[in-house]
Amino acid sequence: MAKKTHDVIIIGGGLAGLSAAVYLGRSRRQTLLIDSGHSMAVWEPDVQNYLGFPDGISGTALLKRARDQAKRFGADIIEDEVRAVTKDGDLFRVQGTQKHYESKRVLLATGLTHLPPDIPGVRECLGRSLFFCKDCDALRVQGKRVVIIGASNESAEYALAMLAYSPCVMIATNAQEARWDARHHTWLEEYEVVVRRDRIVDVEHEDGQIAALHFERGPRIPTDAVFTTKGDVYHTSLAECVGAELDEEGQIKIDHFMHTSVPGLYAAGCVTSANCQMIIAAGQGAAAAQAINRDLFDDSLRRHALPVDRRTVSEPVCQVAHLANP
Ligand SMILES: Cc1cc2nc3c(=O)[nH]c(=O)nc-3n(C[C@H](O)[C@H](O)[C@H](O)COP(=O)(O)OP(=O)(O)OC[C@H]3O[C@@H](n4cnc5c(N)ncnc54)[C@H](O)[C@@H]3O)c2cc1C
Repeated sequence: MAKKTHDVIIIGGGLAGLSAAVYLGRSRRQTLLIDSGHSMAVWEPDVQNYLGFPDGISGTALLKRARDQAKRFGADIIEDEVRAVTKDGDLFRVQGTQKHYESKRVLLATGLTHLPPDIPGVRECLGRSLFFCKDCDALRVQGKRVVIIGASNESAEYALAMLAYSPCVMIATNAQEARWDARHHTWLEEYEVVVRRDRIVDVEHEDGQIAALHFERGPRIPTDAVFTTKGDVYHTSLAECVGAELDEEGQIKIDHFMHTSVPGLYAAGCVTSANCQMIIAAGQGAAAAQAINRDLFDDSLRRHALPVDRRTVSEPVCQVAHLANP
């Protein structure tokens, strides 16, 4: 049997991919979404900044709602991990673990992974009292004892920005050499931010809620929340596989319409330079879907191949429409 050619394959079923699937399904495009099931959204038990959920919603529930919405409009969603994407003429070949797929357009919405610091006890605290993003989580720790783990300009800026939420902010370099520049050093001194330079050996917590940090030396430091800026791994191997350009940070390069440097290949969400927020990922997914739909429409016009459904032309209203458009 001939392989089905989808209009679009979306790789990644987080906020960006699912939002695109809703738009493409509603544009009547044959859409296949392939997802390996590791959206970062599941790490957030209480999303407070996604529009329309004034009482908050868990990331898991948000993903489920988005999946149901995409399915309602006809998107096929399957679980698989894509191993390779190649371009063969106008078509993309997408290789899963067991199966091959093909499509006219591909959207990469593969996201990134935040790396937690390598400290015993830290993983249990992810999303509960260990955070990566001050736009998401600073408000929930206002007035609390906050430690920023890191040694870069970004870490210094995190600490300084956090002063708007709490007077009790400390930096822990975790035995790394401080890499902030002289300007950041001066700011840290000006605002009297305490810098702890020895190694963190343990995180004391109860069910993921941090109570204290234990350093190599000295007494335990009572702590309510930790932010880390250690680094991100962008899931760009498929983009590289098909020859798309990355920027200097290692994110997929896109233009305003989410085009990558490869014709027909689009990218959206945290795998691009977008600020890594759920609503921004969803917005980019929608924008990518609109651009893809437009691109396919233009292509059909060029090839005189609009997918017109002729089954209803005997209906009077269609006959009138035909006569009115000679
Ligand atoms: C602890 C924590 C708390 C957060 N809290 C908030 C918050 O409160 N508010 C907020 O706005 N944001 C928050 N975020 C960020 C938010 O999770 C991301 O902005 C959002 O999930 C990005 O969506 P995305 O679609 O780009 O990527 P993701 O949601 O990460 O989805 C990417 C998907 O692609 C799939 N994938 C990757 N490679 C492949 C492949 N080869 N084949 C098939 N599938 C693949 C992955 O399995 C995954 O399902 C938080 C993140 C973390 C880690």
